[in-house]
Order: sequence, then structure tokens, then C-alpha cells
Amino acid sequence: MLPTSLEPTIIQELTKQKSLYDNVVKQFKKAADLMKLDEDIRKILAKTNNEIVVNFPVKMDDGRIEIFTGYRVQHNNALGPYKGGLRYHPLVDIDEIRALAAWMTWKSAIADIPFGGAKGGIQFDPTKYTINELERITRRFTFALGNNIGPEYDIPAPDVNTNSQIMAWMLDTYLSMMPAHERYRCLHVVTGKPIESGGSVGRDKATGQGVVFIIEQWAKDHNFDLGSATYIIQGFGNVGSRVTSLMKRHGSKLIAVEDITGALLNSEGINPDDLIEYVKNHGSIYGYPSAKPIDHNIFLATKADIFIPAAMENQITAETAPMLNLKLVAEAANGPTDPEADIILNRRNIHVIPDILCNSGGVIVSYFEWLQNKRSESWELEEVDSKLHKKIINAYERVRDTAIAYRTDWRTAAYIVALKRLRIVYKERGIFP
Ligand code: GLU
Repeated sequence: MLPTSLEPTIIQELTKQKSLYDNVVKQFKKAADLMKLDEDIRKILAKTNNEIVVNFPVKMDDGRIEIFTGYRVQHNNALGPYKGGLRYHPLVDIDEIRALAAWMTWKSAIADIPFGGAKGGIQFDPTKYTINELERITRRFTFALGNNIGPEYDIPAPDVNTNSQIMAWMLDTYLSMMPAHERYRCLHVVTGKPIESGGSVGRDKATGQGVVFIIEQWAKDHNFDLGSATYIIQGFGNVGSRVTSLMKRHGSKLIAVEDITGALLNSEGINPDDLIEYVKNHGSIYGYPSAKPIDHNIFLATKADIFIPAAMENQITAETAPMLNLKLVAEAANGPTDPEADIILNRRNIHVIPDILCNSGGVIVSYFEWLQNKRSESWELEEVDSKLHKKIINAYERVRDTAIAYRTDWRTAAYIVALKRLRIVYKERGIFP
């Protein structure tokens, strides 16, 4: 059985039909053309710096040996150590991890935190393994990565199907490989740890909290009353479920929800706390009695004000974008909208707040955790939340103002914000030798 409170687990077959890295290349090119980015910097950023693939054996509970394939892609570290999550999912492959690593580079640059971008994962379905097997898989993966990660070099964190328990095992394994007197200097080798093992308060809810801070600001800017707003959400893992309980405080109504087991609708409103409790007891939204089951296309076509994709990539495509019936897409997931869908949504005046801005709360609070570990401090929740609010709203304003200045969509504007920062650093520092 898996540990509880995992990040979202939707597996849509659609996800793997196209190259995710192609999406990054298209998004990047649009922004680079518009801002007239120098050819040399384009060449550097179009490629990943390092790609580590490890095959490693793990002993199963019944004594058999299985071989797993794990990845860590380090896209860029011009702004600081590589940073990004690790996901456990059957569809993980090098193309997906490359795209996710590049998005981390842009995300940290937009948020103005001193990190580069990386991502990793293992290609397997964690729901098919026992907790003891998961522990051994995680430890053996950490061992296989060896010095390719490090507290001042490359810092993993949770992502899809990984959580604070997985980070605690990684930390313990990494520290066990160090000389004894060095160990406590290295607590910040991973973030998203349990509080007792050096984690930060507020990290668990940080991605969801950041999404809601952004939606609040968007609503303020557009004179939009969240108290009478309706929304639909895809993915009810760590991020999706936390977004719903934070949105409840505004009185916004959740009318449809989808996870790997299907979709549910209740136009009178679904009570997030009730659904969270149900999912805790049943493992998914399947069979939840206070809403009626609907199919995927009806879910996507549900009329609402806001759609929050909080699951996997490539969910909004040329095929599904025309079905949406809303004002705003707030991307809590990484890469939920492909470039063809972006064109359709723009044309239809559906505003998209891009992933690299919208879900950056997670890595922002990872940065706070990293800082606390380095300084041997532990901050209060109010401090974490107010610092997160400041950072993410500053990022939001930079993107909004850039979208106005360049008369472009927010995804392209977000890329421009990131690329300008990277351009300055490359200009100042030059290329060795
Ligand atoms: N996995 C999260 C993301 O995609 C968090 C990464 C981190 O904290 O390093 O942004």
C-alpha cells in the first residue's frame, strides 16, 4: 500500500501521445522570437545540461529481484543549484522528465529564487508495491544517483506519487553515505521533508496555497467575485484537494471533480471537506454518494467560471480545448495545456494562468525549507505563508505587466520574464573558457 497524502495520480492515456519536450520547444520559441533572444542563449537553453539514467536492482518482498529505471535531468543551473521534484509513475520517460526539468528552470527564474531546474523519477506504478518495497526502491534509487544530487548541487522534492515519507527515506540514505561529521550539514539535500526531519511548516499545502493566492489576485484584478464563483477541478491528490479546501473559505462552489477513477458532478456544490474525508477512507472519489458520476467529456464541458487542472500533462489539447465552457484556467499541474490548445483558448478569450507561475508555490516554499535548514532555523506558519504570498504575487505582477507590455498571452509573458533573467546572467558571466 502507498503512504497517504500523495500528489495527483491521474493516468490519462492521452498523456503520452505526443512529445512533451516539443511543447517546451514551441512555447520557448514563441517567447524567444517575441523578445528577440540572442541566438547563442537560445542554443544553450534549448538543451538540457545533464541527463542521468540509472538502472538498479531491488529485492521484492517475495525475494525476487526487479530492475527499475530512474531518471534525473538537470536542465540548467545558471541561477543556482538544480531543483525539482521526483515522480513515480508508469509513464515517466526521458522526454517527459526533460520537459519537466526545463519548466523548473523557468519556474524558479520567474519566482526569483536562486535555483536552476531539474526533474527526475522512476518509471513504475507505485500502487502495485508494498510500503517496504517502496522504501527499498527509493533508497536504492538514491544510492544509484549518488553524487548527482547534493544540498548545494541538485535538490529533489516531492512530485506526482511521491511525498514527505519518500523524501525522509532519500534524506536518510543520502546522509548514510556521508562521513558522520558531515551529515547534519546536508539536511537540505531534499525538500518537502516531514517537519520532524527538517521539513518546513506550510510545505505540504504550498502548491495549492500558491494557486489560490494567484486566483485571488486574478479575481481582484478582474473585479471578479470569488464568493459567487463556480469551479471544476481535475486531480484530487495533495494539490487538488488542498486547493478545494482553501477555495471554500471564499465561498466558491466546486461543482465537478475528476480523478483517475472518473468524474463527478453536483451543480449545487460538492463539499470539499466531505470529499477529502471520503477519499481518505476510500482511496479515490469513486462512489462518492453526494454527486453523480459523469463521463470525461461532460466533465470538461461543465459550465463554470474556473477550471483547475491539478493532475497530469496534455489534458487540454486541440481536441478538448473547444469543449471548455469557462473564464479561467489556473494550471496547478505541470504542462496540462498543449500549444495547439493555447491558441484555441486565446482565441476563445479563456484566460490561462500558466503552470510555471501558477504552481510555483511548491518550489518557493522548498526554497524556504532549504534556507531554514542552512540556517538551522524553523519558521512559523504565518511567516512562511506571508513570504510565499509576497513572492508569488510579485511573480504574478511581473508576468501580468510583461503580458501587457508585449501584448501577449501570460504563458509567453512568463517565459519572457524567465528568459530575461537568464539572459542577464549569461551576459554578465560569459561562457567558460
Ligand atoms: N514538484 C514540484 C513542482 O513541480 C515542486 C518542486 C520542488 O519543490 O523542488 O514544482
